[in-house]
Amino acid sequence: HGSNGSSDDLTFPLEIPPAKIRFTKLFIGGEFVDSVSGKTFETIDPRTGETIARVSEGDKEDIDLAVGAARRAFDHGPWPRLPGAARAKIMHKFADLIDQHIEELATLDTLNAGKLFSWGKAVDIPSVANTLRYFAGAADKIHGQVLKMSRELHAYTLLEPIGVVGLIIPWNFPSTMFFVKVSPALAAGCTMVVKPAEQTPLSALFYAHLAKEAGIPDGVINVVSGYGPTAGAALTSHMNVDKVSFTGSTEVGRKVMQAAAASNLKTVSLELGGKSPLLIFDDADIDQAADLALLGVMHNKGEVCVAGSRVLVQEAIYDEFVKTLVEKAKEWVVGDPFHPNSRVGPQVDKKQYEKVMSYIEHGKREGATLLTGGKPAAKKGYYIEPTVFTDVTEDMMISRDEIFGPVMALMKFKTIEEGIKYANNTKYGLASGIVTKSLDIANTVSRSIKAGVVWINCYHGFDIDCPFGGYKMSGFGKDFGMEALHKYLQTKAVVTPIYNSPW
Ligand code: NAD
Repeated sequence: HGSNGSSDDLTFPLEIPPAKIRFTKLFIGGEFVDSVSGKTFETIDPRTGETIARVSEGDKEDIDLAVGAARRAFDHGPWPRLPGAARAKIMHKFADLIDQHIEELATLDTLNAGKLFSWGKAVDIPSVANTLRYFAGAADKIHGQVLKMSRELHAYTLLEPIGVVGLIIPWNFPSTMFFVKVSPALAAGCTMVVKPAEQTPLSALFYAHLAKEAGIPDGVINVVSGYGPTAGAALTSHMNVDKVSFTGSTEVGRKVMQAAAASNLKTVSLELGGKSPLLIFDDADIDQAADLALLGVMHNKGEVCVAGSRVLVQEAIYDEFVKTLVEKAKEWVVGDPFHPNSRVGPQVDKKQYEKVMSYIEHGKREGATLLTGGKPAAKKGYYIEPTVFTDVTEDMMISRDEIFGPVMALMKFKTIEEGIKYANNTKYGLASGIVTKSLDIANTVSRSIKAGVVWINCYHGFDIDCPFGGYKMSGFGKDFGMEALHKYLQTKAVVTPIYNSPW
């Protein structure tokens, strides 16, 4: 079964577990409401391209209402004033409620984004509950310092929540992205307006419902579904929003910063795109390296900001590596994301599907050699075969641009220095990987790569305790880890004379 390597219709049946789509309205001030305009937009199932629900379309007026609710909840509500342990208790309840709805939530992300259901159930959804618990554990440990000072002054710092935050998230990990931002913001005592991606509003609205059930006070979490240039832009230029945390493309990240600068100089953090290198050295175990290379770029059908889309292989093992890789690529079976044997589901929507297919055509035209894949994998839906190009050069579009699909660009390098140079020859700097048995190579290369994370003999080695975020045009500011908490805090210094000095 499976259709990797064939362009026939998918042999996997469409397996839809019973899923009721229960929440399709905006969530503002603790209530599900229609948009002010009354408009809705469609949300589709990428397995078929068919509409599965219509969701309220928020715009500027709805963002205004949501920011107003968040402002009131911050200025007058209990949330920022609660003892940290009380916030933590509610966050734990929220996490427990997520655990009770894992199947339903995983179903929504599969229906909406074509993500593997088995993965959502086993990994994505349970780990968002744990993200909440991780930051809940920090909520009662947020404190400043007593300072030494160089004069006869007593001073200390207070860490205060930054205020109303705007959280703008993409569609590739609808649940993970929601909670890497919402959880530290909650722990810090902020109130928030979340703008989920227009492709994937369903799980975010479900989380809003669970937040209310958990006892998060009204107005603390507001969710406004809608489009980027309207609802998203209104949030970034709002005068009453104190911070925007954005994950998405580099192009939109630039607009977010411009909007912040042109409005109230709100602080901004950006998690943007990537074109991450995986360096495989001559001493690597070829089987392991090929597995990692495929995992790096095929996981979540390549719709991963850290995708290891440039695989750089040292020349002595190149030919053997390529042979192994092509063989192993067959293990990446394309199929219905609800089917337990599928490893590659459909791209999120038609636009993304067409973008990936056009890069594949570019690759062929630019003179790269197509080793495997390169075609749509089914007649219906947005399925694409896992695709590997070799003979790729540094100037080709497929080695420079983020494709955000299951497309690998393979290149050969001679020396360690050349490998490092190729790896850094990108405007991005989100992630990177190294496969080697040599500690010397691992040490040298990990210190030479300009990227926010270096995975040695692994890939996608995420952990909630490990700060994650980009270098260069992949953005700034970290999600995950205690650094993420500090994005939602600001430091106030309080100073007083020790003696009754005249100054
Ligand atoms: P996108 O930038 O088009 O959209 C991301 C979000 O921004 C969506 O919610 C969208 O509605 C909103 N948006 C669009 N225009 C806006 C505007 N003018 N003002 C405010 N908000 C606006 O990106 P995408 O195509 O949805 O997602 C793919 C991109 O996200 C890729 O480049 C990928 O690398 C990146 N990404 C990065 C990370 C990371 O952690 N660094 C994680 C996932 C995805």
